[in-house]
Amino acid sequence: MDSFVITEVQESRYDRHHLIDWWEQNTLKGSKVLVAGAGALGNEVLKNLALLGVGNITVIDFDTVSVTNLTRSVLFRESDIGLPKVEVARQRVLEINPEIQIQAIHSDLEFGLGIGDVRAHDVIIGCLDSVNARYCINQLAYRAGIPWINGGIGVAEGEVSFFDPNTEAACYECSISNQMWERRNQRYSCQGLKRNIPDVAMPTTAPA
Ligand SMILES: [Zn+2]
Repeated sequence: MDSFVITEVQESRYDRHHLIDWWEQNTLKGSKVLVAGAGALGNEVLKNLALLGVGNITVIDFDTVSVTNLTRSVLFRESDIGLPKVEVARQRVLEINPEIQIQAIHSDLEFGLGIGDVRAHDVIIGCLDSVNARYCINQLAYRAGIPWINGGIGVAEGEVSFFDPNTEAACYECSISNQMWERRNQRYSCQGLKRNIPDVAMPTTAPA
């Protein structure tokens, strides 16, 4: 009786990526990305970095999950309400892709990150919702000497800009208008401390 061997073809997670001839999966695996903000935009960015197989992610956000986040945050569930956004996001990212590393920092980015922490990354992706948070990330990026991508979303529009301290091009701070400075300064006293003024809810939907 003739014997025969069935050769099982093992598929791997990134097989469809490898079919793209210019794709470098190992570059993504070795990349270190700092995601500032785990809100609506941060959720989308973290989900996509996990799907792509970006090997090392750090996410920083001071906030906790609220019921109003559930219309536009793919990583959050009703059972997560009250928990730190970064911790929930970290767990969901690892469910999407257990092959990557993700570190969660539950802190205000103004005080929770040192220059050394920032310098350990290749790029920062800003998923922020205020001029001051963007100003802080811009300062950190330029001190650490790494580029950053600034994302912003409105009701039906989005904005992306790129800032690189290794070029002579304008930085984010250069683009802040007098009106934006005024808005930013309303949140600060002479000592630079946050004034106790209520947050204004912004109209938003799920980012596409
Ligand atoms: Zn500048």
